[in-house]
Amino acid sequence: MSGAILVINSGSSSVKFAAFADGAGPIPERVVHGEVEEIGESPHLLVWSHEGALLEDRLIGAPRDPAGAHESALQELLGWLEQHAGVQTLRAVGHRVVHGGDLFIQPTRVTPDVIARLEGLNSLAPLHQPHNLSAMRAIARLQPALPQIACFDTAFHATQAWVERAFALPRHLGQAGVKRYGFHGLSYEYIASVLPDHLGEVADGRVVVAHLGNGASMCAMLGRRSVATTMSLTALDGLMMGTRCGSLDPGAVLYLIQDMGMRPAEVEKLLYEQSGLLGVSGLSADMRTLEASAQPQAQAAIDLYVHRIARELGSLAATLGGIDTLVLTAGIGEHSAAIRARVCRDAAWLGLELDEHANAAGGPRISSAASRVSAWVIPTNEELMIALHVRALLGGPHSV
Ligand code: ADP
Repeated sequence: MSGAILVINSGSSSVKFAAFADGAGPIPERVVHGEVEEIGESPHLLVWSHEGALLEDRLIGAPRDPAGAHESALQELLGWLEQHAGVQTLRAVGHRVVHGGDLFIQPTRVTPDVIARLEGLNSLAPLHQPHNLSAMRAIARLQPALPQIACFDTAFHATQAWVERAFALPRHLGQAGVKRYGFHGLSYEYIASVLPDHLGEVADGRVVVAHLGNGASMCAMLGRRSVATTMSLTALDGLMMGTRCGSLDPGAVLYLIQDMGMRPAEVEKLLYEQSGLLGVSGLSADMRTLEASAQPQAQAAIDLYVHRIARELGSLAATLGGIDTLVLTAGIGEHSAAIRARVCRDAAWLGLELDEHANAAGGPRISSAASRVSAWVIPTNEELMIALHVRALLGGPHSV
């Protein structure tokens, strides 16, 4: 092996990672993956092989200073990678970065100046962006010579027309960056890259992709480029999610603050962490738990979740002038046959006819042969997309 690319998704309480062997083949191969969990409190390193065998499961010491949580987690991870799994030489690190704003619409080599400019976007993704940046700074301190590449969840949507990007606010606010950006771009970009394998030329037609994970959004594509998406300035907009509310009347935010006396920080917590499936059900943010529950409020949360998808699908179909293909992906899209069935049945008016057996079997095609609109289950792979970007930016495996 000529080296490895480490892909990092750094969050508030965990650092998820995957290491790819970057050999001569067309696609980097994932060798190991895992996470450091509970990094602030009792950090725990978990590593699995590509085949799913647990290779490591151990507590690591918590740093005395919580500000060093990411650095100590990454130090353990880099140490483990050096010693194990045949990942001898790291050639680069690729980071999933939530917000690139208008500044970063391509994967970008990380420098102190890039980190400083990304910091300016922290308030647009307060739960994610600061932790993405902590990991970059930590790796720059631990291994200053290791190239780092930032890959942005917003970048795929940079192709959208002005009317899709603008809010109907005074113009100077749009110029100041208050506009729609969209997220899950690395997932959509990966799906766009594999669509021709499934669809042939139809891949370049009118496609809607539904990324239904803990975070959830939908993207309308034409020519495999983003035309419209449901998230906007922040990752709160659009679909109902695990703990996030999705689209909300901005007047509701004013009401919560001005009439119900909530502080902005409380509203932020409410909208990001206490709403969505969790808030409506009062039980759980996890779709598996809700599907297994006999409680009426679990059913109500699922009903609202599916209804919001149907509404947004209609809106995206209008943007495209109809659809040819619907793709479902991420945790719920890939694994919940019941949600897929409901989403497809709600799309019957668009010309989509579900094949119940194919759906129960997990696809990949879940629409009937006669269906005018085809529906597919395609697993996403954001980590691979990042590894591919790193390879493309740095050149071939031997050029660093
Ligand atoms: P993240 O956005 O954190 O990457 P995932 O893409 O892993 O999230 O999706 C997590 C969601 O997928 C959770 O709501 C989980 O319950 C759901 N999920 C995973 N497997 C299943 C399954 N077999 N049936 C229903 N839902 C599932």
